[in-house]
Amino acid sequence: MRVGIPRGLFYYHLFPQWKSFFNNLGWEVVTSPPTHKSMANAGILAAVSEACFPVKVLYGHILELAEKEVDWIFMPRLVSIEKRSYICPKFMGIPDMLRAQIPQLPPLIDLCIDVSRDERDLFRELDNWSRKVGLKPGRVRKAWTDSTRATLTLETICRQGHTLDEAIRIWEGKPVARPGRSDLTIGVLGHCYTLNDRFVNLGLFERLREMGATPVTSEMLNPLKVEQAAATLPKRVFWTVGRKMVGTALLLDQDESVDGVIYLTCFGCGPDSMMAKIIERRMNKPFMLLTVDEHSGEAGVVTRLEAFCDMMRRQRRLGVENNLSPYGEFLYSH
Ligand code: SF4
Repeated sequence: MRVGIPRGLFYYHLFPQWKSFFNNLGWEVVTSPPTHKSMANAGILAAVSEACFPVKVLYGHILELAEKEVDWIFMPRLVSIEKRSYICPKFMGIPDMLRAQIPQLPPLIDLCIDVSRDERDLFRELDNWSRKVGLKPGRVRKAWTDSTRATLTLETICRQGHTLDEAIRIWEGKPVARPGRSDLTIGVLGHCYTLNDRFVNLGLFERLREMGATPVTSEMLNPLKVEQAAATLPKRVFWTVGRKMVGTALLLDQDESVDGVIYLTCFGCGPDSMMAKIIERRMNKPFMLLTVDEHSGEAGVVTRLEAFCDMMRRQRRLGVENNLSPYGEFLYSH
């Protein structure tokens, strides 16, 4: 069997596990190539206009996979990957949206991944799927359990200072460029599929490194400390990614080695419209919100990154420049 895995959405977090799972079953895994312009354009045309940019990009990946003669496409219905927490509701409807809008779509493996109440729900789902495809449930359960080790490996690689995209390449045995010298440390927040897709992030990490800044992402930090920082909010954030981002932001805000924080979001993202505001209001360090969509250009992002880095260097050199607040205090007193 040949199964296609699109290089979009939670690919950047769970691809090693998913690939290991299918390989453990003896299936071949093929992926779509890294996002490129014509692929994104095809996705934009195929998706509903209300969808956020990463979902439109996913459509492009699915269209490319549909031409690769795969027996199946793995597109799980992600509801929850940890207890009492949820993924953005858009993920739940993606298999149905794809079926409704892509006529030449190969059959989907749309396992419902929902461990919000009980992890055994996932095993029941795997059992049902095993029977449908004629595999022994015990073998499929074991293949899944064994595959979870790949996620742990990925997390360990990230904690050595790599982004998820780099960690996947290292996991696959591919070379990754060594970062050069830097005099700034910048926290970078965002969803894994926004931050790690070179086309969507408009080369954010490369640009920061070229400008002499070391980016720090959530995955590079101790997850326990991230959770503890997020728990200081008066109400628990029930979105897995949103909670991770707020915890990361609060942790970076207390870290003296971090000069500033950038939040990369996509136009049309519902959860980010709330999380970005919560984070922005709690940050004491220089903070920049970058919003991208299909109309964004790399030049605009570079200009803003340069200005952000210049501002932090000037602040450090002069030691007096305030974070000119649009709310008045600094605006009118200097
Ligand atoms: S969290 Fe935002 S960017 Fe991600 S799928 Fe949902 S709406 Fe789109």
